[in-house]
Amino acid sequence: MKIAIFPGDGIGPEIIIQAIRVLEVLRSDGLKFELEMGLLGGCAVDATGEPFPEGTRKLAIDAEAVLLGAVGGPQYDMLLREKRPERGLLDIRKALNLFANLRPITLHRDLINASTLKPEIILGLNILIVRELTGDIYFGEPRGIEWRNNQRVGFNTMIYSETEISRIAHVAFQAARKRNHRLCSIDKMNVLECTQLWRDVLNQIAKEYPDVELSHMLVDNAAMQLVREPKQFDVIVTGNLFGDILSDEASMLTGSIGMLPSASLDNQNKGLYEPIHGSAPDIAGKDMANPLAMILSVAMMLRYTFNLESSATRIEHAVKETLAQGYRTNDIFEPGMKKVGTAGMGDAVLVNL
Ligand code: NAD
Repeated sequence: MKIAIFPGDGIGPEIIIQAIRVLEVLRSDGLKFELEMGLLGGCAVDATGEPFPEGTRKLAIDAEAVLLGAVGGPQYDMLLREKRPERGLLDIRKALNLFANLRPITLHRDLINASTLKPEIILGLNILIVRELTGDIYFGEPRGIEWRNNQRVGFNTMIYSETEISRIAHVAFQAARKRNHRLCSIDKMNVLECTQLWRDVLNQIAKEYPDVELSHMLVDNAAMQLVREPKQFDVIVTGNLFGDILSDEASMLTGSIGMLPSASLDNQNKGLYEPIHGSAPDIAGKDMANPLAMILSVAMMLRYTFNLESSATRIEHAVKETLAQGYRTNDIFEPGMKKVGTAGMGDAVLVNL
């Protein structure tokens, strides 16, 4: 296995060390891999002037999977948009053609009090959100701000081709097959033609997956249902814009941003794996960051790119056990629990592994 590692900025380097320790344990169990370190984001800007330099591009293209910490920080906010760390993220997604973003939203039983929702609404929560990542209104042309009739107007284009819709649909149907065989597609077909096509293509592809039950929901209703009765969902598939908003809403059902991993995949299961949170500059360098989202991103990598289901579940069980034993970083701490730092949480997970 060839894995590129980009620690990034802020808490990125601290949490990625814990992910590497987990991989090293698996190495002693017989998994064989090469790790190559590279620069992406603000650290790359500091070193080369570019957020996604050529050397990083080459490493990413040569690797089978990429592990990323997080990028960004206030010191880069004054840079031009194309030189900012976050631009490195968009560039790597584009360079690797990572069109499918997978975000599992699961709630660990021991963290039930971290959520703002009532325990009975979220106990046992387990949703997978599949978001299209390289199309939609974020990339559609024409776009811009211009003068018309003596005032400025802003405009963007919501656009999806059948090919773009069908490739993300296949990812979602296949994911549903590995879970509870239910897929809910989210659109706004009552108002937007683009999403009428989305629904038509989903219905067409559903014929190839008779074992998966497909349903459709309008995005406004979906936003409401996610907080009203989130456990009704198994797999959700949606476009880039709706997915951006709904996946953040859904992640907050669990109340703990430091716990959730994500995967962005191409059409051959090559992937970039990262926590959903950012670089948390407010706690960087203080041994306070929760490394579990990063460690769970390693589990996703083993599952989706390398097809190593048993190693993936082994990591997930170790995390579960660690939480059950009461280990907590500051972000998920409750009175009576054992407070640990980033490295301490890593130690506890390693013992359980
Ligand atoms: P953030 O996710 O970095 O932090 C939000 C809050 O959550 C902060 O209080 C932070 O301390 C806390 N937090 C986040 N991760 C945590 C963890 N693992 N353990 C404990 N607490 C954690 O979001 P932000 O503050 O809006 O953004 C900071 C920087 O990160 C910005 O430059 C932003 O552009 C960037 N960002 C990067 C990514 C990415 O790399 N994929 C994603 C989001 C934001």
